[in-house]
Amino acid sequence: MSTHKPPSKSFERARAEQLEYNVRREAGYRERALKIYPWVCGRCAREFDRRNLSELTVHHVDHNHDNNPNDGSNWELLCIYCHDEEHSKFENMVRYGSTKESAVKPATSNPFANLKSQMEAKELEE
Ligand SMILES: [Zn+2]
Ligand SMILES: [Zn+2]
Repeated sequence: MSTHKPPSKSFERARAEQLEYNVRREAGYRERALKIYPWVCGRCAREFDRRNLSELTVHHVDHNHDNNPNDGSNWELLCIYCHDEEHSKFENMVRYGSTKESAVKPATSNPFANLKSQMEAKELEE
């Protein structure tokens, strides 16, 4: 009875530790990525300098933020706008399974079908 611990306390602590870990991890790979790569958005080619560097973000190509190889092969520098777009594209793919769907359904009169395959083609090039 004397060892009773409210579960919320350890949860809060674990959460705080996780947040701290995230911050440290992000600071680590961001700094490294900015050292390896030129400060240019990989999508729209916008250039950055110290004044607006906060708008240049580090994207993980495989969307796994724990995968940070030293050669930077999993990083891509993207401006915040292109980064947002990249993620909503990825989320749609996960949610609607667009890769599977396109394999099953041939192109139809759907006006978005062409756009989608263009986006997928772009993805394959990378
Ligand atoms: Zn951009
Ligand atoms: Zn990203």
